[in-house]
Amino acid sequence: MADVLVIGGGPVGLFMGALLLQHGVSVRILEQRTGPEPHSRAIGIHPPSLDALQGIGVAENLVAEGVPIRRGIALGGGARLAEMSFAGVSNRFPFVLALPQSRTEAVLEERVRQLDAGALHRGVRVTRLHHDGGGRVTAEASTGGAAVRHSAALVVAADGVRSTVRAQLGTAVRAKNYPDSYLMGDFADSTGFGPDAALFLESAGIVESFPLPGGLRRWVVRLADPGSGGNARWLVKRIGERTGIDVDPASNSMLSSFGVRARLARRMVHGRTALIGDAAHEISPIGGQGMNLGWLDAVALAPVILASLRGADVGADLRNFEVSRMAAAARAARQSEINMSLGRPLPVVPLSVRNRAIAAAAAMPAVNGFVARRFTMQ
Ligand SMILES: Cc1cc2nc3c(=O)[nH]c(=O)nc-3n(C[C@H](O)[C@H](O)[C@H](O)COP(=O)(O)OP(=O)(O)OC[C@H]3O[C@@H](n4cnc5c(N)ncnc54)[C@H](O)[C@@H]3O)c2cc1C
Repeated sequence: MADVLVIGGGPVGLFMGALLLQHGVSVRILEQRTGPEPHSRAIGIHPPSLDALQGIGVAENLVAEGVPIRRGIALGGGARLAEMSFAGVSNRFPFVLALPQSRTEAVLEERVRQLDAGALHRGVRVTRLHHDGGGRVTAEASTGGAAVRHSAALVVAADGVRSTVRAQLGTAVRAKNYPDSYLMGDFADSTGFGPDAALFLESAGIVESFPLPGGLRRWVVRLADPGSGGNARWLVKRIGERTGIDVDPASNSMLSSFGVRARLARRMVHGRTALIGDAAHEISPIGGQGMNLGWLDAVALAPVILASLRGADVGADLRNFEVSRMAAAARAARQSEINMSLGRPLPVVPLSVRNRAIAAAAAMPAVNGFVARRFTMQ
């Protein structure tokens, strides 16, 4: 028995758990994986998220481990087209923090354990939820072959893109598939860009490059045809052809290819259960917003949960939560579409014309500031 069950111990579920534990709520986080996820999916933590992470006391640790990206540079045809500074986007955190998701999750997990050593239950896979009479919800789950049940007054489902809870609730989803696909890899940094992010707008397709801790750099290359990617050597060859930068294939520490789709749940609240994070909205990784969006869902939901546990009528607050967070997800999906469109070949406008237009627009301080704020989810 707990006040709140959080299903899924990814970055969003762990953050939600820590936020509630900090307010003295009794929380159980049920996570099917027995150990941490090693894959470094998300690397960008935006300023509003750093404010939120400061609220649970982990922003300093994350900043100490990550690389603050204070500037983005756009290049094309060997020329520097534009620069965008993040200096004006936030007083406290005027940067995007680059840190592999695996490290972010480790810091969040440590915080959860500090707040309540028994809150996180690993190796527990939730299979079914049912509402009991008397205002409680029970999760049926399996762990090590045995069946277990956990019950609570409220459930937060942060169980990711293939959410079992969303499927069981029968939540309708607005789905969109995109023609874009990418190959990404982490390598030793040989660029000289230091902590800057770089965007290469090239006719063969966009190349993105971000600093990572430990002298590494993430490279993301748009593929001309879905499925045309190869191994680390193949990726390095494409980076060299498009940017002229030599990257050592032997230094590769992560390689992943992905296609892009968006899935927006049409509801986030069902009785005593709320969906947050990727369970509620899957956004293109291009632009790096998915994890950040999920944390901000949790920030919006926490006060409603606290009021509900105090016995307040939170019907209107829940509706506000749902409407505002679904709108935020739709905005993020549109922003990611803009980001992806930058990397597509343009059938009508020659690349040089487009790049000149980008350079001219970025030279206008108002436009530059607006884009910087949009890129950092402000
Ligand atoms: C290549 C790539 C790059 C990305 N880059 C960025 C970026 O730079 N910035 C950004 O903000 N986002 C980025 N994202 C998106 C980001 O990774 C996700 O938005 C984020 O992981 C969502 O977190 P979550 O906790 O909602 O879901 P998840 O991370 O998927 O966590 C869900 C958890 O629930 C658990 N679970 C699932 N089902 C059950 C069940 N039935 N019972 C118990 N546990 C269950 C899973 O094991 C998992 O641990 C990227 C994604 C990809 C693929």
